[in-house]
Amino acid sequence: VEGAAVDRYAKHLDRLLLDATFVARHLPGADRAIDAIVSRAIAAGVGGADSVLDNGPGPETERIAEVALRKGPDVFRARVLANYAHTCAFCGLRSRLPDENSFLLLASHIRPWRNASAHERLDPRNGISLCAIHDRAFDWGFLTVDRDFRVQASRHAHDHYAPEERVRAEILDLNGRSLARPDRDYVPPAEPYLAFHRENVFEKRFRCGA
Ligand SMILES: [Zn+2]
Repeated sequence: VEGAAVDRYAKHLDRLLLDATFVARHLPGADRAIDAIVSRAIAAGVGGADSVLDNGPGPETERIAEVALRKGPDVFRARVLANYAHTCAFCGLRSRLPDENSFLLLASHIRPWRNASAHERLDPRNGISLCAIHDRAFDWGFLTVDRDFRVQASRHAHDHYAPEERVRAEILDLNGRSLARPDRDYVPPAEPYLAFHRENVFEKRFRCGA
């Protein structure tokens, strides 16, 4: 089943990967096929193209594997930033150029890359579009997101950083704020990823006075 979809869309893969939002909305079959190809390629590692090719040798498969390895992180980034209309979900900072690049934004993994399966590394529901400072604060466990999609700030961080006016204003005061959902067809983060972040990342890498 997967193989047929792969064959059907392989010729247009370059374009499809560049237009990930369109694919996700209008070509779910292609989306799953691309997911499968890219997941296999990532699981195999950069040097593992041979095992990917074992699934179906031929120049087309080879091209897909090559494109998938190169484009995997870009697919995730494109999906996540498009989902938030190139806006930081925490503070609303919008950064967009005509060519869709957003130099000030990152597609942050909720369940971190190091703890994620190949599929989870590409799943847009495991991503939040964040500006550089909030990506850092999220990754280091100063901030997390509750099951109602509200930002939650670390009490430990608050105790330590409350006297620092800008840390308080730009990070800690986000506590209770709802995630920005600027896109009409917005897909919210999946609760299992958020739960993982709350349990394993939030306040885990940063402790003070505890
Ligand atoms: Zn921000």
